[in-house]
Amino acid sequence: MTELLYLEDAYQRECQATVSQVDSDGRRVALDKTVFYVQGGGQPADHGTITSPAGPVVVTGVKRDSGVVWHSCAEDGPLPTTGDQVTATIDWDRRHQLMRTHTAMHLLCGVIWNEYGKAVTGGNMEPLSGRMDFEFDPLPEGFKDTIEAAVNAEITSARPIEVSFLDRSIAVADADLIRTKVNLIPESVTTIRVIDIVGLDKQADGGTHVENTADVGTFTITKTESKGKGNKRVRIALSD
Ligand SMILES: [Zn+2]
Repeated sequence: MTELLYLEDAYQRECQATVSQVDSDGRRVALDKTVFYVQGGGQPADHGTITSPAGPVVVTGVKRDSGVVWHSCAEDGPLPTTGDQVTATIDWDRRHQLMRTHTAMHLLCGVIWNEYGKAVTGGNMEPLSGRMDFEFDPLPEGFKDTIEAAVNAEITSARPIEVSFLDRSIAVADADLIRTKVNLIPESVTTIRVIDIVGLDKQADGGTHVENTADVGTFTITKTESKGKGNKRVRIALSD
């Protein structure tokens, strides 16, 4: 089991850790704890460096495979050895851009729900851009201008963003979380992590977010596309 430090603190950039497993052929390393985000929930993994007594190696991806969190390492650096004490450091510029983007996605969900009562059906993001699908048919008149203005107003209003951990029985009874289908989370999950853009949008979520909507930047809808009946794709981008 790897302790995922970003679940509690998305602003931690570095940690000391012990190497728990090394897959030399696959050039993968598992740690007892990590600051690296594990790819999932539409958010890509962090990049960065693991520095062992043998020297630094670049981390190009982090994935869960059969329950193990593996850090994929570049070909041209030394792999650590099991038991080594290492320093794990994320590429902070990239991570912070992903935090801004992930928060923007939740702003988009909250604003579209308030404006039109439509739910999100899927999404994916890269640093400073992303796409989300919503159950519209068709997109309403004036959608782009209405939603851009509403999201940018939420950014300007500087709402705090809170992370909490709720007992499953409490989470499934929360009206805001019911809207985001919290009941679909497997029953084996007894503690549910919640991201609350206070007063706007509350979701069960494993991602990393900025601590205030003011940090997101300027929000633009770059494209809308139809992906079939009852499924419209919205592409977004952020700028400073
Ligand atoms: Zn999310």
